[in-house]
Amino acid sequence: MKIAAIETIEVRIPYTAGNASQTSAWGGKEWLTADALLVKVSTDTGIVGWGEAFGYNVIPATRVVIDQLLAPICIGADASDIAALMRDLQRKFHIFGRGGPVTYAMSGIDIALWDIAGKAKGQPLHQLIGANRSTGKTRPDQVDTYASLVRYSEPDQVAANVARACALGFGSIKLHEITAPAVAAARQAAGPDVAIMLDVNCPWTLNEALDMAGQLRPYNLAWLEEPVWPPEDHASLAIIRKRGGIPVAAGENAATLQQFRHLLEAGALDVVQPSPAKSGGVSGLCDVFALGNEFGVRVVPHSFYEGPGLLSAIQACAALSSDPLVEWRFFDTEARLYGEQIVPSGGKLRVPDGPGLGCDPDPEIIGRYRTD
Ligand SMILES: [Mg+2]
Repeated sequence: MKIAAIETIEVRIPYTAGNASQTSAWGGKEWLTADALLVKVSTDTGIVGWGEAFGYNVIPATRVVIDQLLAPICIGADASDIAALMRDLQRKFHIFGRGGPVTYAMSGIDIALWDIAGKAKGQPLHQLIGANRSTGKTRPDQVDTYASLVRYSEPDQVAANVARACALGFGSIKLHEITAPAVAAARQAAGPDVAIMLDVNCPWTLNEALDMAGQLRPYNLAWLEEPVWPPEDHASLAIIRKRGGIPVAAGENAATLQQFRHLLEAGALDVVQPSPAKSGGVSGLCDVFALGNEFGVRVVPHSFYEGPGLLSAIQACAALSSDPLVEWRFFDTEARLYGEQIVPSGGKLRVPDGPGLGCDPDPEIIGRYRTD
């Protein structure tokens, strides 16, 4: 089975996020739409796989890597030997960076090839990648999910959206706030029994982070995510973990297995967060789950997506985690790539059991929201 074609498709779906006065603004530009880069890989046997490469404002760069650099090399390659192809791409392109758009592009192709592998065997990925694992446990048909909220900044807005997530049945909620009053408002709205995580996206020096950890400790956070700048300052993360009194999470900005290993060897993390569309696709998730086992560190993937990146996280968690938890982007999108098939209910997501990733994006939705 050979790769016959690779197509990149950008979709832009309008969304709202509660009463947010401003949406996220990474990459110097507000996110007015939920933008995703889908990667459609076709084989000479007719099987088609869907992947997703990160995403949002970096799409133009990721897309050119796939279309102009990777696709010409992948076409004609054996679609069923994913490890060999990924090894080859990593070696051929390492001088362009071991992270960023080159790695996002490879991640998207990797996810599509795993979708193809499952479809070729008629098995959902949680079965395929869990096949060598004998836990004696039956795999879950649903996984716990947490609502991942945008940054609202205003405590009243934070409280209103936390209350909205609680009313929808989420038992775990992640904030992207950076002040203690915003977190206090969330805790008050949620009550004592809802797990609250805080993702601050690398704002602080070590000393600032230790000071903030002190201010945040009363709110019983399940984890503090990416507290220091720069994200690869693993030594400072380890100090915050030791002295901050709050479990530490990170990983969405690590790109290679070696970087994840360094994080864990540094003793930096209680929770490691590989991102399927950024750090090696389904193959990357499998590697980091194995690493997490080796170090006894919980793996909770970053999946601020609604396409194949999200499905990869659901499938890998169902197959490889003893306490699966999947990130759900708390957006109200105008339309969903998978319709109503992948929508949380009571704080849980169904693990789709179709072959490969479990379901395909709706062609009608792609047709309506694609940018070209
Ligand atoms: Mg994060």
